[in-house]
Amino acid sequence: MVCAVLSDVHANREALEAVLDDIGKRNIGTVFFLGDAVGYGPEPNECIKLLSNACSVLLAGNHDSGVTGSIDINGFNEFARAAVEWTRTVITEEHKKLLMSFPLRKEFGENGITLVHATPCEPEKWHYLVRQEDAVLNFGCFDTPVCFIGHTHRPLVIEESGDGPVRSRRSDILLNEDRAYIINVGSVGQPRDGDARACYVIKYGNHIEFVRIPYDIQETQRKMARVGLPSPLIERLSYGM
Ligand code: ZN
Repeated sequence: MVCAVLSDVHANREALEAVLDDIGKRNIGTVFFLGDAVGYGPEPNECIKLLSNACSVLLAGNHDSGVTGSIDINGFNEFARAAVEWTRTVITEEHKKLLMSFPLRKEFGENGITLVHATPCEPEKWHYLVRQEDAVLNFGCFDTPVCFIGHTHRPLVIEESGDGPVRSRRSDILLNEDRAYIINVGSVGQPRDGDARACYVIKYGNHIEFVRIPYDIQETQRKMARVGLPSPLIERLSYGM
């Protein structure tokens, strides 16, 4: 099976359109979305619409849940909170209902993949899967060979060898069928790994490819400024941080 996996669009329409365009050119029909359609960026409604049309599975992220009021946003930093509050003023009722209908996690035994925004263990707690010991714990929380995650906005492959330690890398990989993997697909709309281009992943059978797509960052920044989103959120897009 060939599929594209996207996460953390964050209302960045230019980045999302560039990624969907690339997926279209490659003739990939199956697209999964791991959550955070909104928050940070200037076009939440447009992005929800584009994602709903393109993706066969859509999950909820913490910013989506913040916008719908399903979670408390007091734990968000001031800029994230300001963006969530602004998003609440512009999102349509229909899109809000749609976001509320998105699950936090989905497991496809037949395709051998699990999808979740934050972590396979306790997806509702929005943990960041960064440390090796967290990875070890999380390998115990899904039954498929591969689990795709997002949330940190940083691409990463973590491989569990079964007997040895967990190993990680940030590059394309050929999956070994005797091992399990947690793969962070990076972020479409607000990358934080120092590369400002949009990021997503394609799974061709057992081959995982990280794809980087340039987009019109300045156009997104102009739109953010126009609606009054916080300037640190605008500036960080230039650096991918
Ligand atoms: Zn996010």
